[in-house]
Amino acid sequence: MKKYDYLIIGAGSAGCNMAYRFKKNGKKVAIVDNEGIAKGASGAAGAFLSPLPGKENLYNTFVNNSLEFSLNFYEKLSPESIKKNGVLRVTNDNFSDDKLQTNNIKNRYISTDELQKISENFTKIDGYFYENAAILDPLKVCTKLIEGCDFYNKDIKELFHDGNCYNLEDIKADSIVLAQGAIKSLVSIPYIKISPIFGVKIDVKTTTKIPFNIHKSISISTNKNDETVAIGATKERHDTTEMECLTTCDKCSFNPNSQQEQVETLLSLADELIKLDNLEVVNIYKGARATIKSYFPVIGKVIDYEKSIKKYPSIQNGTKIPPQMLEYFPNLYIINALGSRGFVVAPLLAKLLCEEILESKKIPKELSSEKLFYKMARSKICISTVL
Ligand SMILES: Cc1cc2nc3c(=O)[nH]c(=O)nc-3n(C[C@H](O)[C@H](O)[C@H](O)COP(=O)(O)OP(=O)(O)OC[C@H]3O[C@@H](n4cnc5c(N)ncnc54)[C@H](O)[C@@H]3O)c2cc1C
Repeated sequence: MKKYDYLIIGAGSAGCNMAYRFKKNGKKVAIVDNEGIAKGASGAAGAFLSPLPGKENLYNTFVNNSLEFSLNFYEKLSPESIKKNGVLRVTNDNFSDDKLQTNNIKNRYISTDELQKISENFTKIDGYFYENAAILDPLKVCTKLIEGCDFYNKDIKELFHDGNCYNLEDIKADSIVLAQGAIKSLVSIPYIKISPIFGVKIDVKTTTKIPFNIHKSISISTNKNDETVAIGATKERHDTTEMECLTTCDKCSFNPNSQQEQVETLLSLADELIKLDNLEVVNIYKGARATIKSYFPVIGKVIDYEKSIKKYPSIQNGTKIPPQMLEYFPNLYIINALGSRGFVVAPLLAKLLCEEILESKKIPKELSSEKLFYKMARSKICISTVL
């Protein structure tokens, strides 16, 4: 039986970045995934790395700082897995001219005439070009991130802590990081309510040369290193259904819209931006983004909600109980809810979580699991105030 300092559950963008950080700090690391490496949302991702324009707020500042960090990080880690050709953003219902111009991110307006000089395949669009944008190869990046770590193709059904360490049949580990994406959590964490947003992305072959990524409501990539072009992604939220994902999307029988319908939507939205000659769809990917209401990701220690509330019921009436007095699952951490920008945000999140675990540095409030714990624990106060 092998024993590790850290076992990561989930080999997507989140888990692989955590594995990389621990290994870099000299720790003995294993990573498990029952589907393989980058087979969940991470395998379905574009994976576009683009800025989030608009008037500065906490969320887009976080995304744009993460983008700067991740572009440098991936370029150093695996230059062959990243193509940094920039992105042309075309206005849509959410991003008017004003919003695309109003920000600190360097950009340049490109008129229809200028675009058609670059390629006559562009339709009559114009837009704003952001140089700091790229597309990644998700599988190559995730594989590179976990080099030097042991990988197990294994479905973890439950966590068992024997009082000394986690003991999972043939693997032992002092600490565990849950990086399960949209899949039902292995422990009860009622204050982190993950809702899945499904999506389809396709890879196509085309003879059209695309000089940079293009984004309107969907994105079209530049011609990637393998000569294909990514088009993605559709978005489907099931607001009327309480959903907990038990499998990755390729094995899920719950398929509200036909896959073909989504592929046709992507092709028709792409056609509004650029004519793709000799088009052939070569791959279709499905995945579920894990999101929470605030759109911010979540990182931190995993608090045992039930035990904490039992110990300090007065939290629910507003009594201030400091985090260090709460009940935690032993050496258990989470990184999740990476939303639609998992490849943009994961490198910085993993750095922050690793620093909290190894150096006790504080996690920014908006990202912390503790914040969500207190929010849920105190939600009763708000209800009684309203009543
Ligand atoms: C269609 C689509 C397009 C997207 N496009 C982009 C994009 O262009 N740019 C971008 O940055 N992001 C994009 N995203 C978002 C991005 O893919 C996600 O935010 C990110 O990949 C989430 O990574 P993750 O590691 O949290 O989850 P996942 O990649 O889903 O990984 C979780 C893994 O955990 C495994 N797992 C769960 N439970 C267990 C268990 N008990 N035992 C073993 N294994 C387990 C699962 O099998 C899964 O492989 C897109 C997502 C989708 C769905």
